[in-house]
Amino acid sequence: MTDERDLQWDLSRLYTGANDPQWERDLAEAKDLAVNFRHNYRGRVATEQIDAAELARALGAYEALQKKLLKPSLYAQLLFAGDSTVERHKALLARSREISSAVSEETLFFELELLRLSEERFAALLQDREVATCRHFLNQLRAHTPFALNEEVEQVLKRKDLSGREAFVQLFDELSSSLRYLFVMPGEPEPREVTGEALLALLHHPDGGIRERAFAAFLDKHAENGLVLTACFNNILLDHGKEAELRRYPDLMTPTHLASETEPEMVERMMAVTEENFPLAQDYFALKSKLLGLEKMKNTDVYAPIGDSDRKFSFDEAKDLVLTAFETFSPRLADSAQAFFRERRIDVFPRPGKTGGAFCMPMMPGFQPYLLLNFTGNLRDVSTLAHELGHGLHSVLAQDQKLFHYYAPLPMAETASVFGEMLLTRLLLDREQDRTIKIALLCSKLEDIIATTFRQTVLTRFEQKAHRRRGDGLLAAEELCGLWWDENAKLFGTAVDMIPSYRWGWSYISHFIHSRFYCYSYVFGELLVLALYQKYLEEGDSFVLKYLQLLAAGGSRPPGELLAPLGIDLNDPDFWQKGYDFVRGLLDELKELAGVR
Ligand SMILES: [Zn+2]
Repeated sequence: MTDERDLQWDLSRLYTGANDPQWERDLAEAKDLAVNFRHNYRGRVATEQIDAAELARALGAYEALQKKLLKPSLYAQLLFAGDSTVERHKALLARSREISSAVSEETLFFELELLRLSEERFAALLQDREVATCRHFLNQLRAHTPFALNEEVEQVLKRKDLSGREAFVQLFDELSSSLRYLFVMPGEPEPREVTGEALLALLHHPDGGIRERAFAAFLDKHAENGLVLTACFNNILLDHGKEAELRRYPDLMTPTHLASETEPEMVERMMAVTEENFPLAQDYFALKSKLLGLEKMKNTDVYAPIGDSDRKFSFDEAKDLVLTAFETFSPRLADSAQAFFRERRIDVFPRPGKTGGAFCMPMMPGFQPYLLLNFTGNLRDVSTLAHELGHGLHSVLAQDQKLFHYYAPLPMAETASVFGEMLLTRLLLDREQDRTIKIALLCSKLEDIIATTFRQTVLTRFEQKAHRRRGDGLLAAEELCGLWWDENAKLFGTAVDMIPSYRWGWSYISHFIHSRFYCYSYVFGELLVLALYQKYLEEGDSFVLKYLQLLAAGGSRPPGELLAPLGIDLNDPDFWQKGYDFVRGLLDELKELAGVR
């Protein structure tokens, strides 16, 4: 048995504790470095006086000051996540945020000036070997050049955002988190006030009546607050439309493509192929209806548990399963995974004051990542361990990259994590003897895939239509409800009945408010992992090395270039379909097990 104390993380390799004087010294030094940086380089790039050697030095100094700032900032975040009730932790977090924003104000000029370098001058500077080590970072920055406004306008926009877009984001967040629902919780005689999260968790309850009542209560409360929610959506949509006009983006999705380094045609094809495969999802829904003993399921039954699948795992069992899954794939990867436990870079169990959910803090080059879980022994928790360890291993392998190239490109951020889950699912399916549990495992894998591919495509289509419609004028709540309903109906077809309250399903999706058009990244991530996994099945060991090299490349190139050495061509129209063919295979395996043909 692992000692419980060994399953709390050890942050002492960063600082000796929350009162370590080095923490404040590091922050102060970061701020000094930023002031010097501004003094040394401000105006040098814009006036094109800078030569390659000086630019290389500037890039080095820029990276160094950011790393100096990151270490105390990340430490404060980890302390706070570990126990948010300690006043000192809150104070450190606030202090590091304050310095971070001061540093970013001092250094903002640098990226803006780089944007404005002439094409010829930029190309000449890139000839330098040192400068070229930052090539991808610079190229990504420069992709924004055609859409940049002059410095004063940029500053005005930033300031007006506070009372514009950001004010509506804030209002949406405050309203959403303030909502309370009067509800009779299962097994309780009287209604009481509960949170939205508690209601959404009931979508996994075995009783269909409870699932439906919970989701309807959740959505109806949103309808009651429809006036404010509709205003938030309208203003967020309008704000983006106006900014797109101002910057002359060729399309409303252009800034997302720039950030994700994705080609619009590629994304459109991916979504079109996904829509062509909606019948595959409907086929699954029909099978699940049968497994649940229903004539036809409702959309509140999609995540209903199958059979008696609430098996419990000890953490040692979970750890053993996940490490074995990585071991069969690559002993080297399993070794690096072991180090998380050996070096206590993982915090396993829930405790008062600790943040909920799970995450991987990737840290930075020179500092190994940390993982946080809230392990309670469910199958889900075992998958989460595989998921977060996958993220962690991605960061470990990318340790040799520069800070600018350390983090994976956005649409590939979930590659290693979902791949880790895939390895675990396969191991569990191969080892499991109990047919019911195997069925439950396959159902949950398929539901994950449906949620990350089909559903996210529906979300993106809704979002595209809402943004485009907003260009013609204010959207009434009823129109948003109608758009939402129609897009969802395409996915559910005749296989699933949507409950009437679901018309308001759009109004609680925070991605629409916080990270516009982000949802297609999930589709990309999932289909990519399915493709990588198939390659692994086909190529065996020769794939493993290429996969490790992919992770080690971090974010040093755009997705298309990172994937080329693995024989993946994102422009191949068949590429996305192969992912769905694999899902079809999983569904056939499930039908076989369930005795349904
Ligand atoms: Zn993740």
